[in-house]
Amino acid sequence: MNFYDYLVKLGLQEGYNVIIHSSFKKILSAFPGITSNEVFTSLKKIVGLSGSIIFPAFTYCYKKSSGEYEIFNYADSKSKVGFLSEEFRKEKDTVRTLSPTHSFALWGKVTSFISEFNFPESPLGKGSVLEWLTKQENSYVLMLGTDFSSLSYGHYLEIESKVPWYDFSPWDYLNVLPIGVSVDGIQKLKEIPGCSKNFIKFEKFLDDKKLIPKLSKDLLQSSLIKITVLYDNGIKFFKENFESLLCSENTCPACDQRRKKFISC
Ligand SMILES: [Zn+2]
Repeated sequence: MNFYDYLVKLGLQEGYNVIIHSSFKKILSAFPGITSNEVFTSLKKIVGLSGSIIFPAFTYCYKKSSGEYEIFNYADSKSKVGFLSEEFRKEKDTVRTLSPTHSFALWGKVTSFISEFNFPESPLGKGSVLEWLTKQENSYVLMLGTDFSSLSYGHYLEIESKVPWYDFSPWDYLNVLPIGVSVDGIQKLKEIPGCSKNFIKFEKFLDDKKLIPKLSKDLLQSSLIKITVLYDNGIKFFKENFESLLCSENTCPACDQRRKKFISC
């Protein structure tokens, strides 16, 4: 089975709008010698121009209260969320959005609706690419060798379900301010996404309900999850189980900050 057939078998179809989280290492383990270009060609061939391919190309260019910080630059700022996402945002036919902290690389239908000038003050909430995906039919999260600890959509769910810390920044201990910085200037941000490690609890919840279609090949385990499934189950789960979304005590300073402020007395 080649990579194209693998994606088809997983359920990917023409006209789907997909946001992709990936481990290229895992993809390589199942498809030795495959190039990033071959990955993109297969994806584009399947979803076509009536669908969309979206990679997060986050750079986290926040202003800091002390110490040095990076300044976002459209052409040169590298994606910090994986090899494929960095390769994809450099493609000639890809549009990169200008959010200094949470930029996205876009291809296909989505580019008729979202231009490079999409940089909402709520980078993963209202007005964001994630909101656009939520409003489309046929939107999916495609995970290629990753788990829910990389689920950007979880941050959208945090905001939509208004978990207690949805607009609280837990990154004080890293001197991070709720301000994005780019060569064009600074942008005050309404929400700063926090730690996402324990979104795997939500994954387990969906898994137990058999709501995540999966396909394995060697070390590569992938899943294709419909956004409506994430949204409908997520709003309820996040409202009722927000506490379980925090890392265990004393293992994560960001989650400890949130626990201290919103949970323990
Ligand atoms: Zn954490």
